[in-house]
Amino acid sequence: AAKAAGKRCVRSSGEAVDAAVGRRTRLARDLPAAIAEGQLRVLYQPVVGVHDRRVLGLEALVRWEHPLLGTVPPDEFIPLAEEDGLIVPLQRWVLRVATEQAAVLLADGWDVQTGVNVSVRHLQAGCLAPDVAAVLAAAQLPADKLILEITESVLLDAHEGALGDLETLRGMGVVLSLDDFGRGWSSLAYLARLPVQILKMDREFVAGIDTDPRGRALVASVVELGRALGMDVVAEGVETEAQLAELQAMDCRYLQGYLFGRPMPFAELRALLAGFDDSVLDVPEPPATKM
Ligand code: C2E
Ligand code: MG
Ligand code: MG
Ligand code: MG
Repeated sequence: AAKAAGKRCVRSSGEAVDAAVGRRTRLARDLPAAIAEGQLRVLYQPVVGVHDRRVLGLEALVRWEHPLLGTVPPDEFIPLAEEDGLIVPLQRWVLRVATEQAAVLLADGWDVQTGVNVSVRHLQAGCLAPDVAAVLAAAQLPADKLILEITESVLLDAHEGALGDLETLRGMGVVLSLDDFGRGWSSLAYLARLPVQILKMDREFVAGIDTDPRGRALVASVVELGRALGMDVVAEGVETEAQLAELQAMDCRYLQGYLFGRPMPFAELRALLAGFDDSVLDVPEPPATKM
């Protein structure tokens, strides 16, 4: 019986591998149609101020609504798009949607900046700066309302020309943000070379902040480092009130995470912004102290 069960295990893990390969092959095959037929959508996650929880920014996060497989996360299909050369049209589409919707929010009177994740392949293709200029012009969005989130892999993979493109984008007034800071191993060596104004601290850092004193010390020092370099620091992956309390104590100004909101459709985001009541920020007068 044990032998049979063992065989069954081997067979079923083989099937699992087959299934994974099958899914991957299928996703790669279906991806061109996904872009052409409007199966991608952009969700937005709020970035809030640490003291008043006011929404100061957004991150645009792409999803694929596959007609048969359901929602496919970006970690699964972005790498496929990068292999297939589909990444440039995909990124153009995300940039176009995000800038158009950012312009709608601005017209509504919301002064928020929208972050879009950049693929290093788009930068390597040499057309990121002109593509960004084109979508900003089409949406009539001021450049400083767009944040481009780049990861450290840009520095490892891209040629020197890529850094020049980042300088061009920065010269246009676009805000640059270093995403997933701390996940790589080369962070500090490269940090000073990158023309970034925002540091997004990876959620791995934030995860242990309220339980592990060394983890807490690390986060505090990253917040300090960002401050010393004149950068705004965003903590990613804030999930609990205890983490929030630690980040408040460190005066880490910008926070993003499920505690404040999951990635949501644009309509839901607009409702959230419209429902925000400024009066919750009015701190009541302290009661007069009796002498
Ligand atoms: P990222 O840029 O670091 O985005 C943050 C990810 O963390 C998002 O995952 C978000 O849903 C998730 N997240 C936010 N708050 C929390 C939290 O409190 N707890 C946990 N556990 N997770 C949280 P998502 O949407 O699955 O995106 C994954 C990655 O895919 C992104 O990581 C980004 O690197 C990439 N990505 C997403 N959209 C695009 C895009 O349009 N273009 C490119 N090139 N990459 C994209
Ligand atoms: Mg990001
Ligand atoms: Mg990140
Ligand atoms: Mg990332």
